[in-house]
Amino acid sequence: MTNPEISARAPLRPVRESRPWKADTWQAMPAAQLPHYEDAAELQSAMRQLESLPPLVTSWEVLALKQLLADAQAGKRFLLQGGDCAETFADCNNEVIANRLKVLLQMSLVLVHGLRMPILRVGRFAGQYAKPRSADTEIIDGVTLPVYRGDLVNGPEFTPAARRADPKRMLEGHARSGMTMNFVRALIDGGFADLHHPEYWNLAWVERSPLAAEYRHMVEGISGAMHFMETLAGPIASFQRADFYTSHEALLLPYEQTMTRQVPRQWGWFDLSTHFPWIGMRTAALDGAHVEFCRGIRNPIAVKVGPAMHTDQLQQLIEVLNPDDEPGRLTLIHRMGAGGIGQHLPRLIEAVKATGRRVLWVCDPMHGNTEKVGNGVKTRRFANIRSELEQAFDIHAAAGSQLGGAHLELTGEDVTECLGGASGLSEADLGRAYKSTVDPRLNYEQSLELAMLIVRKSGQAK
Ligand code: PEP
Ligand code: MN
Repeated sequence: MTNPEISARAPLRPVRESRPWKADTWQAMPAAQLPHYEDAAELQSAMRQLESLPPLVTSWEVLALKQLLADAQAGKRFLLQGGDCAETFADCNNEVIANRLKVLLQMSLVLVHGLRMPILRVGRFAGQYAKPRSADTEIIDGVTLPVYRGDLVNGPEFTPAARRADPKRMLEGHARSGMTMNFVRALIDGGFADLHHPEYWNLAWVERSPLAAEYRHMVEGISGAMHFMETLAGPIASFQRADFYTSHEALLLPYEQTMTRQVPRQWGWFDLSTHFPWIGMRTAALDGAHVEFCRGIRNPIAVKVGPAMHTDQLQQLIEVLNPDDEPGRLTLIHRMGAGGIGQHLPRLIEAVKATGRRVLWVCDPMHGNTEKVGNGVKTRRFANIRSELEQAFDIHAAAGSQLGGAHLELTGEDVTECLGGASGLSEADLGRAYKSTVDPRLNYEQSLELAMLIVRKSGQAK
């Protein structure tokens, strides 16, 4: 996650003075999607403990990522951002973490090879533990309880004890994020991402995939090219590293506040719970607590943009979150649905163009395509995910804009949560291996297929 080759050029201090900001000024604003903690003293105690613990990333890494995002804005890199909808404490284990890394590495190999440009890899992991929900409560058999808001807040079991918002969970979430991060860093530093050994990333069940032959063919091509270059020029050391950055939705503000720190020899504040926090669609109100919190930190920020976003709201968000038009600072992740992107994206692209400001446009083809089938099971159809992504490339190209990345929910586990894809998962398959407690994820094979599709489509859209 550190890249010594990138100099973290320190941006200038803000040109204009804005309203005073502190890590807790969000507390005076209306805050959507926050849990109610019954015991204020218990909350304060957890927050004080977190404040005394080390953060999870460094300001140096955060600034290096911002520079890489600036490159992506300039069309010189493609962002691949992916991982679980929600991590769980139970899944903080060797296998789940390594498998997720394998899928992301394989996808990025497909993208590097096909797009002929560097890929910026960002995981939805090491902190993706808090979830926005469509209702505050859940009713089962006439019993009403608070809704599950992610392991950072409460437990998924339908009991009053599990559903109580427990501030101590923030300490556990911090610890598990640290363990995840440590394991990812150790794998990468130990050579797991070495392009000389793509076999390290093979997943046990991959050989059965209809895409296995195409993938193997590509890997052989890359290995051949590397061997050729090394014969001529000696070992390719820089290929041995693959940087990974982390991201999560900056939803649970009491937690994010405790990780927000000042560091020596840097001005301003950094949210050091993650490299790249994002503001979810449900918490992007201009005068809301989440926007207030994010405007004051120096991390790169992403905002999810849904069909209900007004053009003037988007323009004002850009003004509030990136008043100085700092390169790499702001990413917009649109998630409209295959049926809505044609209607909504063009007006938003025009609105951003009218500001003259730079943003990185990223497509999340997952969250606008969630539906319920059969007995209320949440799923997404691969055909819709594919369609939204393809339309995104075309709409940006037609508007003289550029799609600079994809934001996906995926897992390295052999799950059956999304319908379709190369091996044609059907509704009957959903019962076989549906493990997500929240949104349905692409499995390995569907993820790889999507990477191949991005390559084909971006070639056409140029
Ligand atoms: C998510 O990314 O899991 C999510 C809830 O997204 P959105 O805010 O776009 O609905
Ligand atoms: Mn989700």
